[in-house]
Amino acid sequence: GAVIGILGGGQLGRMLSMAAARLGFKTCIFEPGGDCPASHVANYHFQAEYTDEDALRRFAQAVDVVTYEFENIPTEALDLIESLKPIHPNRRTLAISQDRLTEKSFLSELGLSVAPFANVESRADLDAALTTIGAPAILKTRRFGYDGKGQARIMTPADADQAYADMANAPAVLEGFVDFSKEVSVIAARGVAGDISCFDPGENVHKSGILHTTTVPAAITPSLRTDAVILASKILNALEYVGVMGVELFVTPAGLIVNEIAPRVHNSGHWTQDGCVIDQFEQHIRAVAGWPLGDGSRHANVEMLNLIGDDVDRIPEFAKDGSVAIHLYGKTDAKPGRKMGHINRLLGPA
Ligand code: ATP
Ligand code: MG
Ligand code: MG
Repeated sequence: GAVIGILGGGQLGRMLSMAAARLGFKTCIFEPGGDCPASHVANYHFQAEYTDEDALRRFAQAVDVVTYEFENIPTEALDLIESLKPIHPNRRTLAISQDRLTEKSFLSELGLSVAPFANVESRADLDAALTTIGAPAILKTRRFGYDGKGQARIMTPADADQAYADMANAPAVLEGFVDFSKEVSVIAARGVAGDISCFDPGENVHKSGILHTTTVPAAITPSLRTDAVILASKILNALEYVGVMGVELFVTPAGLIVNEIAPRVHNSGHWTQDGCVIDQFEQHIRAVAGWPLGDGSRHANVEMLNLIGDDVDRIPEFAKDGSVAIHLYGKTDAKPGRKMGHINRLLGPA
């Protein structure tokens, strides 16, 4: 059988590996860390740095197709792999989504609504951006931010000095604060033939910058649900995307505003494991392997709850509840803020 290469060895790589195994594939992860969530289930593990060209070459030779579970793969590593094996989603998508400035520019050029934004590479840039965008606003590092890290809120111009200092000279974007009523996301998939299948939008609640729950169905109007799916399809088609993408949206009186895109399976799509016949992980493996996409329709109402840090201590309690599916990532060190697992609570038939 074919071998699927996965760059990154976290929980997303773990769940991708499990889905790949169900479809009869073997998986090979490339991950510098040793005892990582995906290493417990993948068939092969190249444990090396992304700067190790020899290891990258051997990895590429050992697999049939390459995908990834995180965005921040050094572009040199990708260039090398791409010269040897196909990578899905494609290089262009990854480059765009690695940098909030190129991502927001791409989305707005596509005609989609995004928060007002401006590039900030100096203290003077920040003043200029605040003049046009105004406060409240959020300053975000252009690269490497996740779980709300690398962000500073500017409630009044007096907060600008501290916010700028928080960026530690990293290039940033200033974003106008969006007064949203809810956050939703669409998990969308596109196959090699250009076919698209979207999962029903989920409603997301964050706690301290980290996703806390995703609930389906989202309490939004049918027309917004349709808008969300059309908008996600537009993004995937424009990128000639192959695989699953997470599209985070703000719901406002003026319609949907795109917050960010993630060129991979997404935490807000974990509910699909227990709410759909074919979940986001299988859908992604199908897409990158060139299989037909599965039906993304939902058979249940679900609440996904992330288990962060010592939330995992509640597992015995969840285990007693027959309507709760438990998904643990095999991590032993329950540090604060660390995603240890999630549960999907079945709320009834869709
Ligand atoms: P992720 O872990 O989803 O990748 P991230 O670190 O990339 O997170 P964002 O998704 O940009 O960060 O922001 C985190 C959260 O902060 C959003 O889900 C939203 O709740 C809030 N937020 C971000 N940008 C804005 C904005 N322009 N206006 C209002 N709220 C915002
Ligand atoms: Mg993000
Ligand atoms: Mg986000």
